[in-house]
Amino acid sequence: MQPTLRGFRSILPRRFIHVARTVAEFRKYRSELPKNCKIGFVPTMGALHDGHISLVQRAVEESDIVAASIFINPSQFSAGEDLDKYPKSFDNDLQLLKSAGVKVVFAPLTSEIYPGKALCHVEPSDFSLIHEGKARPDFFRGVASIVCKLFNIVQPTYAYFGQKDISQGILIRSMVQDLNIPVEIKICETVRETDGLAMSSRNAYLTADERRVSSILYKALSAAEIFVNEQNCQNNDISNESITCIITDILNSEPLVSKIEYISIASCIDMKEIIDVSYHSGGVISSAVRVGSVRLIDNVLTGHAKNMILNLTELDNNFNHNRKS
Ligand code: AMP
Repeated sequence: MQPTLRGFRSILPRRFIHVARTVAEFRKYRSELPKNCKIGFVPTMGALHDGHISLVQRAVEESDIVAASIFINPSQFSAGEDLDKYPKSFDNDLQLLKSAGVKVVFAPLTSEIYPGKALCHVEPSDFSLIHEGKARPDFFRGVASIVCKLFNIVQPTYAYFGQKDISQGILIRSMVQDLNIPVEIKICETVRETDGLAMSSRNAYLTADERRVSSILYKALSAAEIFVNEQNCQNNDISNESITCIITDILNSEPLVSKIEYISIASCIDMKEIIDVSYHSGGVISSAVRVGSVRLIDNVLTGHAKNMILNLTELDNNFNHNRKS
């Protein structure tokens, strides 16, 4: 007889965490869970911080068992990016995940996930044309392919992604719909340092001086968000150009911002640029900048985009409706 979920939870020691290194090991663990067990899944590349843990906490609230993965996915890095020096802190990550309530971690070697040259990938149409895709040519194909593989291995009920990587979240939500993958995607608000800088594993690369000024990105995006929301409340649509100007002026006021890679005002349905932002259209205002040599990304959501992205029920209805229209 299958144990009940309540019974199942009580037979797992409170602070027990299982680490599966191979697909077969994870599948074995998965097969021993009760059939109706709701699995919440948090995919990560490790070097965990409070942003990752906030996803785990939401998953713990909503699921019977929480699984996380730690895998630095080489296929989403382009040549010259930081694959080799990406920060690693596996033992600390495990402690954090265990304390937050994760019961199983999938942490494969690269050779387990990519044993040879693959013939098949998930190729997102048009995402190479959006700003983040132009800046990182291999990124979205690499992300969609690895997340699809992880979903097939973990077979979660829910999967949790951060608003911080908004285009990734929108892509994955679209992927599960387009490919009929039975998992519900939940996007959770960005967790920030006290000065507003979005938490990121890559913040560790910032020097003390760069760190001191790096909240400029969030300040610039927030100024745009306030302006757009105020204008939209008065029924004024705001042009892409005027939003871009506000952000550019603030970013240019900081000498340590060495490059503005892009500023994007896009649709929360497919990340395509929008000309005029109304309350109803909402907008994903995002940017990538270099502070020194460190690449920072961040975004804010205006008007209806906030509900569409963060409120699942409304999003599912609107998302499907908008994609049809
Ligand atoms: P990564 O390990 O960078 O691949 O991130 C794993 C997940 O954590 C992704 O869904 C990210 O969007 C999410 N994440 C990263 N930083 C934050 C943050 N500051 N707040 C919320 N979620 C985050």
